[in-house]
Amino acid sequence: MGERKPNILGPRQIEQLLDKVARTLPQELTCDECLAELDRFAEMTLLGQPAEKAMPLVAQHLAMCRDCREEFEALLRALRAMQAEEAPDA
Ligand SMILES: [Zn+2]
Repeated sequence: MGERKPNILGPRQIEQLLDKVARTLPQELTCDECLAELDRFAEMTLLGQPAEKAMPLVAQHLAMCRDCREEFEALLRALRAMQAEEAPDA
């Protein structure tokens, strides 16, 4: 009676999983790890979502690391520019 459970995680589950992982990891991120999360972090920031709560390690790294912070700001600028392009002409 093999009822097979779907093996695919929804975006929400993945988010919860990542959130859990982020909270369990006690150590700080490296720059590479920070940069890997940075686009998500920037997107959440732009959307007004609590990026610092969802990814506290990234926030912590950005507070300490000037290189990544500059990268983050550049990313924010790029995302804003993209948003402006996507916005329908009123
Ligand atoms: Zn860094």
